[in-house]
Amino acid sequence: MKKKMMMFGTGIALVALTACGTEETEGDASSSGDDPIQVVSTIGQLDDAVTNIGGDLVDNHALMGPGIDPHMYNASQGDVQLLDDADIVFYNGLNLEANMEDILEQMGQGKPVYAVGNNVPEDMIKADEEEQNMPDPHIWFDIDLWSYAVEEVRDGLIELDPDNEEVYTENAETYLSELTEVQEWAYSEIEQIEQDQRVLVTAHDAFQYFGDAFDFDVLGLQGISTEAEYGLSDVQRIIDEMIERDITAVFGETSVSDSAIEAVIQGAGQQGHDVEHGGELYSDAMGEEGTEEGTYIGMYRATFHKW
Ligand code: ZN
Repeated sequence: MKKKMMMFGTGIALVALTACGTEETEGDASSSGDDPIQVVSTIGQLDDAVTNIGGDLVDNHALMGPGIDPHMYNASQGDVQLLDDADIVFYNGLNLEANMEDILEQMGQGKPVYAVGNNVPEDMIKADEEEQNMPDPHIWFDIDLWSYAVEEVRDGLIELDPDNEEVYTENAETYLSELTEVQEWAYSEIEQIEQDQRVLVTAHDAFQYFGDAFDFDVLGLQGISTEAEYGLSDVQRIIDEMIERDITAVFGETSVSDSAIEAVIQGAGQQGHDVEHGGELYSDAMGEEGTEEGTYIGMYRATFHKW
């Protein structure tokens, strides 16, 4: 009797194993067969890498469109559905999508979810000087760093769909060489700007990596994250610096309210220092789909067209 029961038990275990195995095989078939791989990224910059590397093999979506601030973004019901349906997910990490970390980690239990910022060597990551132990997530403003993120997208797709390794590898190579090309163009543009004019005043501190790469001083009214509100002392600090260094332009950002920038322009004016609004930069969000600025390279180039 005892023996019989044991056999019965083994039988159940076998059935369960077989069922599980069948499901796995089906899952594999749908991701490496004719159906495109469903890819969800948080920010447009990453989605652009997926578009370029995945081509027709992927069906990809970005959760955060033009003008959206990733620091403050909360996942909608629709986003949760997209994440649920995705075969693979990419996000920047390094505390950029601060309010989405829980759900992204949760998704990571059941499918490949990559925080691409983690692929950048740690010694290249800047610290957020106002928030202890927090990194600066704005790695897309230095192509030396962003290339690591792009490589993580490539490697993630290969891991999920090894049959098409060659396609992903070749596409990534082409894309990375385009990024190197635009980086070289940027260096030649910057060379034409006098050293004492290399100052960028913006709404929030998204341009520290940019500043390091191009030897620019960058001053942000808000910190690395837009979560911390700016105060009057921040406005006065920027005005003092602008007067002292005779800086006459400030820049808005498509994903941040202009109120801090307007306060600087008004406050400086009251102190007899004329400051103009230099236009809006694409800091954390790309431009409208279908426009040049709606691509990573276009948004990157746009930063250099503002002066
Ligand atoms: Zn930011």
